[in-house]
Amino acid sequence: MTQPEALQTPVYRTASGRVYNFSAGPAVLPEPVLLEVKEELPVYRNLGTSILEISHRSPEYAEIDASAKALLRKLLGLGEEWHVLFLQGGASLQFHQVPLNFLPKDGSADYLITGAWAQKAYKEAKFLGNARVAASSEDRNFSYIPDPSTWELDPKAAYLHFTSNNTIYGTQFQTEPEAEVPLVCDASSDFLSRRITPERYGLIYAGAQKNVGPAGVTVVLIRDDFLQRRNQPLPTMLDYGTHAGKLFNTPPVFAVYIVEKVLRWLEGLGGLPAIEAINDRKAALLYERIDRTDFYRGTAEPGARSKMNVTFRLPTEELEQRFVAEAKQAGLIGLKGHRSVGGLRASIYNACPIEAVEALVSFMDYFEQRYG
Ligand SMILES: *Cc1c(COP(=O)(O)O)cnc(C)c1O
Repeated sequence: MTQPEALQTPVYRTASGRVYNFSAGPAVLPEPVLLEVKEELPVYRNLGTSILEISHRSPEYAEIDASAKALLRKLLGLGEEWHVLFLQGGASLQFHQVPLNFLPKDGSADYLITGAWAQKAYKEAKFLGNARVAASSEDRNFSYIPDPSTWELDPKAAYLHFTSNNTIYGTQFQTEPEAEVPLVCDASSDFLSRRITPERYGLIYAGAQKNVGPAGVTVVLIRDDFLQRRNQPLPTMLDYGTHAGKLFNTPPVFAVYIVEKVLRWLEGLGGLPAIEAINDRKAALLYERIDRTDFYRGTAEPGARSKMNVTFRLPTEELEQRFVAEAKQAGLIGLKGHRSVGGLRASIYNACPIEAVEALVSFMDYFEQRYG
């Protein structure tokens, strides 16, 4: 060999030829779900038409709605005291709807500010009433979760709001907050990724497009005794009571139909204990690669690292841009960090297979060898 062999850019594809997708949201869906949708889209069962073209009061859609709700209850271990709602408006509307319903005129609510979404939730609450900052990690650019010993909790607060996983900054509560008051959780980017303790919560909400389905539906879980405390009267559509236990108006049928399939897929894997173990392995693989050399640098403090959104930087912005571009060429998409923080972000939600993380680690090795 007279010339040194140039490093070949690797190419990665799933068995079916799809690229590996690390998008933060809308995000990758389980492939078996997509294939099932494709198969039954034009003609659902014996209807002679699709599920999208019939009444949401039809027995066929009622079955999908009931199945999705039953699966959520089963996966999370929710008893009869929980309401399961499929709403619209995204997690962002929940930022407003939660305080509209639960922030009393003569009371207050506590907020843990651990990122941009938490800040937005707090802003909407302040717009309506007395919202307090119980703790914030803004002083170090949201790279950590404030230690519970520093939280200034009000035992009379109507609720304590927190964001279990900070999608943009790549941090995650490693354990669920402990408080005397009911927790309200924005779980949009780690919903159903691990087990939770439902008893601590009054309300949990999650936009589906990160970890449970396509965009267009927001899953809201409300414990009945918490629901009963809501302010009255409220505009009909924004009153959670309107949607508890019934379909008040047309739900986002296509999104719920896909969510139901994702939930069945998750149950088939073995539910939350099984997916939690898989998610632990994926995150460990990736953080181990980041930590192996100084070329890659994780941006979240080690004790707060997210198992869903892994954020990291390279020595220069130019290298980061090159990484994103070459990774895309190689079949690894969606790795650009959020526009507000830059760098790289690999979102490795439930539907992201371990092979995707293995491919990314292999690409990171290649890239460092070439440019490090
Ligand atoms: C994506 C995201 C949101 C915003 O969700 P929308 O459905 O776009 O309103 C809110 N909170 C968290 C934690 C998120 O990851």
